[in-house]
Amino acid sequence: MSDESPIRIAVIGSGPAGFYAAGHLLKDEEAGREVDMLERLPTPWGLVRSGVAPDHPKIKSVTRVYEKTAAHPRFRYFGNVCFGEHVSREELLAHYHAIVYATGSPLDRPLGIPGEELPGSHAATEFVGWYNGHPDHTGLEVDLVSAERAVVIGNGNVAVDVARMLMLTAEELAPTDTADHALEVLARSRVREVVVAGRRGPAQAAFTNPELLELGVMADADVVVDGEELERALAVHDEAAEQDQTARRNVEILREYATRTPTEGRRRIVLRFLLSPTELIAGDDGALAAVRFVRNELVPGEGGSLRARATEETETIAAGLVFRAIGYRGEPLPGVSFDERRATILNEGGRVLDPETHEPLAGEYVVGWIKRGPSGVIGTNKKDAQETVDALLADFGTSTNGSSGSAGSSLHTPAEPDAAAVEALLRERQPALVTYEGWEAIDRHERGLGEPAGRPRVKLTQIEEMLRVAAAE
Ligand code: NAP
Repeated sequence: MSDESPIRIAVIGSGPAGFYAAGHLLKDEEAGREVDMLERLPTPWGLVRSGVAPDHPKIKSVTRVYEKTAAHPRFRYFGNVCFGEHVSREELLAHYHAIVYATGSPLDRPLGIPGEELPGSHAATEFVGWYNGHPDHTGLEVDLVSAERAVVIGNGNVAVDVARMLMLTAEELAPTDTADHALEVLARSRVREVVVAGRRGPAQAAFTNPELLELGVMADADVVVDGEELERALAVHDEAAEQDQTARRNVEILREYATRTPTEGRRRIVLRFLLSPTELIAGDDGALAAVRFVRNELVPGEGGSLRARATEETETIAAGLVFRAIGYRGEPLPGVSFDERRATILNEGGRVLDPETHEPLAGEYVVGWIKRGPSGVIGTNKKDAQETVDALLADFGTSTNGSSGSAGSSLHTPAEPDAAAVEALLRERQPALVTYEGWEAIDRHERGLGEPAGRPRVKLTQIEEMLRVAAAE
């Protein structure tokens, strides 16, 4: 393809996966490819803005890489534009050679147990969005005053983030970009203890070493591990965990935690294992009062891993708050092929497949969590996006370095591949479209608000506010 007829690609979603895909696509200057990114919010960066914990600013600095991509002359950002609402799949296929879906996994996975919807029971996805100022979750009511104990279900990094955020002091939170509404509620919190409950053992936990270590150095919370419970779970040999460096180190860290004696009067993060919730129990006021668990034992599961099997023993833990941190779930996009079982877009190596024939669909690709499921860290998306971009470029007869290759079977030819035409269409459908300059105005505004208090930014959390600031530009 030459400059006269560049490949034009629409990337749907502006999180890490979308930006890595855009970066890979634009890398070859000679190829003249053009990338338009559509984002449903006015603001970019996906989970880097609304998922990464506010006390992890270093992780957030990855946006500098995405800013470089956004500055590329052949990149355009169309924020506040919702795929399926303002523009359809068919319309995009009429304007672009390819669509790359990068919409992530915005939903929570339900536990499927009685009482899950009781007041006081929250999906971690919502709580994380709430403290990070995601406009969808600003209205979440989190009562941290009525309960002294919270239970977090799950043993992944999100569970650890939630436990830590609940136990950070006001002083620790002050220099972060935690949403102001959350800072106020967290400052008044009367929660003294957070119990993190995993259904399997310490060797099978999904959290990573640095995140687990952070729990051991909190300003006003001790980490508590029952050595007897730990060793009971570790008594069942797990060959896969034995081979896994992260799992081995997690076990070492937890064994050290088990030797610690908590200080009277300090708050606590209690790490429990081999417990599956079976029911959330309401108190007289109808709100959550306790969690009933069944104790598990570890037995051989699929592919050499160990799975949790319920025993006859139960345990009830009084708690007014539950955060369900058992993983995220993908959401189908209107008109796009979806694999219900995996909750991902049906694909092979990033090529979207026809649901009937399972053959690649011309011009449709997918990256990130909505491609492979909600796993891995931010950097995982770089390699993941490369696989998809390689497939796309192979289909269009070019390699990443711009040299010609054999055209694949999925070549798509849009009816109207005109940059101005699609922009006109999007602006007609969404007059409040936010350009990258609009986002930069929001960014400057937020940083300016944060500066006097030594915070990286004060986030705008209402769409109308963001649009006002973007429009002032
Ligand atoms: P995750 O890593 O998949 O962990 C989910 C946890 O929930 C697992 O412990 C799992 O246990 C448990 N679980 C699943 N179904 C359950 C059920 N029905 N009952 C009880 N427990 C259940 O998911 P995540 O914590 O949401 O994290 C998503 C991804 O984002 C991960 O790759 C994570 O590393 C990443 N992340 C990274 C950071 C960071 O780097 N700081 C921060 C946040 C998130 P089993 O193992 O038994 O299934």
